[in-house]
Amino acid sequence: MKKIFTLIVSITLFFSCGSQEKVAIAKTSINYTPVDEKPKLVVGIVVDQMRYDYLTRFASKFGEGGFKRMIREGFNCKNNHFNYVPTYTGPGHASVYTGTTPKYHGIISNNWYDKDIKETVYCAQDDSIASVGTESDAGKMSPHRMLTTSFADENRLFTQMRGKSIGVAIKDRGAILPAGHAANAAYWFHGKDEGVWITSTFYTTALPQWVKDFNDSDAAESYFKVWNTYQPIESYKESGSDLNNFERGFKGKETATFPYDLEALKSENGGFDILKATAYGNSLTVDFAIAALKGESLGQDNDTDVLAVSFSSTDYVGHNFGVNSKEIQDTYVRLDRDLERLFNYLDETVGKGAYTVFLTADHGAVHVPAYLQSVNIPSGYLDYNDRKERFVAFLESNYGSKDVVENVSNNQIFFNKAKLKELNLNIHDVEQALVDEQIGYPNIAKVYTATTMNSTNYTTGIEALLQNGFNQKRSGDVIVVDDIAHIAYSRTGSTHGSGLNYDTHVPLLFFGAGINHGETYNKTVIPDIAPTISALLGISFPNGATGEVLGFVLD
Ligand SMILES: [Zn+2]
Repeated sequence: MKKIFTLIVSITLFFSCGSQEKVAIAKTSINYTPVDEKPKLVVGIVVDQMRYDYLTRFASKFGEGGFKRMIREGFNCKNNHFNYVPTYTGPGHASVYTGTTPKYHGIISNNWYDKDIKETVYCAQDDSIASVGTESDAGKMSPHRMLTTSFADENRLFTQMRGKSIGVAIKDRGAILPAGHAANAAYWFHGKDEGVWITSTFYTTALPQWVKDFNDSDAAESYFKVWNTYQPIESYKESGSDLNNFERGFKGKETATFPYDLEALKSENGGFDILKATAYGNSLTVDFAIAALKGESLGQDNDTDVLAVSFSSTDYVGHNFGVNSKEIQDTYVRLDRDLERLFNYLDETVGKGAYTVFLTADHGAVHVPAYLQSVNIPSGYLDYNDRKERFVAFLESNYGSKDVVENVSNNQIFFNKAKLKELNLNIHDVEQALVDEQIGYPNIAKVYTATTMNSTNYTTGIEALLQNGFNQKRSGDVIVVDDIAHIAYSRTGSTHGSGLNYDTHVPLLFFGAGINHGETYNKTVIPDIAPTISALLGISFPNGATGEVLGFVLD
């Protein structure tokens, strides 16, 4: 029966997609699927700021046991995209694990203006919670602002809480949102002068012994060493020259060039925080993930466990050095070896074919616009303050008050509803007036009103992405879209957030238990991941999931 289904799926895909489509479903000896058994462990991997082309651009420098193993043994969705704006870390992690978009899970950005309390809030911040493992406030975090369940939550419910859920990342939001509401724990790295993995009272009142042991070891300190390229720098022909005008670098070092003596640089660059912004932050994450696998006995019984690992350092390196740097290339070459180390450990302890891994990203990133300009590709920099001054002046001259706007954030404008009422203004009229005003500004490509978002059903284009990112209760009243490759950022380093391909196109790889071998150019979207994993496990979909099951990925 299963074979017939597989055949139908492959025929359907073949005919529906023409010659472009390459779904290879032929089984090979390396596709070790256990007999109708669920995976003992699902390892979800999110690589922060990983563009799709890193998989192909750096391929010649990868070993056989990391990215290439996932492609060789598993399934490669080559046309996988985010289907909403904004493409940031908080929304990205929430969308991967909940199978939906900010419209439903409510994580509309990393930070956003809360209309009710009239304050900017952080996606994982929870002032009702205390830190565990540090005296600082770095642990006052929980997933309470995420409105829907993650697949890890559904697995907890399905297994009567026997199947564990653990989140691990340098960034708190990269650990907390994936692990979900019913998680056993999420751990993140607190740098500064402490260099420890911490959690919050949302999960537990004290760190487990294995975390204490890890923090007591010299695991973090051991990375205060010289960061040089893994392979000879001359062989890194897939990135720009090491010395250029598009990189920021570290304080205390004149040029953003290898090698970096981290021991010497740490005092001027935030102590342990410097590790976050190097390839070694990812190595430390694998060290800790392996300690978690061991300490929590993950994948050792018949109730499926979930380990959510997010590699944050790739994002810090991209922001600092840009997507075309030697530093970013080396970070991916080293991440590939760290993945191999993780997979080898899983083979030994959980067993080949007994666990399932997926790997994706939370967003991509744009080439440094200053670099694009140097090769004549349209791009540029924006000054949001100038823009704000101009439209506030417009509103003042039209309505006689500066206070019509309450907040501007994430390319959204929030009106002061009380002020509108006081001035006897109709909000729809003010929204539309601001759209008509702003569309004439330089480097603004599109402007929409909340009314339009709530009354129109977009199915394609940037409008559909805006709508998927638009949460009626949390989002603003006017939404602005900037020109392509224009960012409000320094002239060094890359950033992200748009609905353009450089930010939306990210890898999606699956391998291990229950996964077919093959590849597809069919478009897949980030919210498809959680329903696909749920289908693999035979559990309920996350309660707000809007994605589709990628049936061709499943064996
Ligand atoms: Zn970022």
